[in-house]
Amino acid sequence: MTHCPGCRWKDRPCVPGEGRTDADIVLVGRNPGSTEAEQGRPFIGPSGMLLDATLVEAGTAREDVYLTNAVLCQHVDEDGNDCDPPHEAFAICRDRLRAEIKSVDPKVVLALGGDAAQIIIQTDRKISDMQGAMMFVPDLGKYVIPTYHPAYIIRGAIGAFDDLLAVVKRARRISQGSIPLPDPNERYDIRYITDVQEAGETVANLILSGPATLALDTETKWLKDPDYEMLLVQISDGTTSWVIETSLLMDDPNFSLFQGLIEATDKTWVFHNAEFDLRQLWHN
Ligand code: SF4
Repeated sequence: MTHCPGCRWKDRPCVPGEGRTDADIVLVGRNPGSTEAEQGRPFIGPSGMLLDATLVEAGTAREDVYLTNAVLCQHVDEDGNDCDPPHEAFAICRDRLRAEIKSVDPKVVLALGGDAAQIIIQTDRKISDMQGAMMFVPDLGKYVIPTYHPAYIIRGAIGAFDDLLAVVKRARRISQGSIPLPDPNERYDIRYITDVQEAGETVANLILSGPATLALDTETKWLKDPDYEMLLVQISDGTTSWVIETSLLMDDPNFSLFQGLIEATDKTWVFHNAEFDLRQLWHN
């Protein structure tokens, strides 16, 4: 039982968080299902096994992180089958979740799935719009990275595994200190480019700017589009970020300029997911 005083679901089976209480990485799922409720542990069963394998692939392990859920109690429908908690449960449980995360005091929080991400970040944006973005949550005092829940991948969204793994790897590098966390009070120069001439000039200026370390990331709507349409290309030199609509770069002369920038020998590139991004860039 949850022993959550005053909560209408306080008599439901409860699965507390588990793991290192001083972990650098906290992972937050939605709520426990029947398997977790029976065993009293979070992330058990097929999605838990996938998460375990993902952690190992990223160079860490379940024992090195802290796992919990946005709602700790199991919810069932009239037939006794697992069901989604109502929004009210997420809202009621948020103070508990915030206190739990603060007590662990991690470097970064991974929100697995839309429900966890929305309640932690306090937004109604879809998980596909937030996946992989590092967002500072002021009342938590932590950076949160939303990504896909392993259960979503097991249900058939196999391609989402690349995103989940990339996010867990990034969290691992943050925990090791090899990716510094940005100052949440710092303001960044972000330029959103929707004009074909401006896109060409931006790429040309980057080519002419001389030796530089540049970061590149892409956004696709591949989950809905079997042709893997790429929507945005994002380039940053650490001070300024240029967000360019991909369609502006796909015809010459901009395409040749962009290819020249990618292949310029005086640039060092930092990719979010190099294999995926380059495959998608040349596919488009
Ligand atoms: S919704 Fe949250 S506060 Fe309410 S019983 Fe469940 S775990 Fe406790």
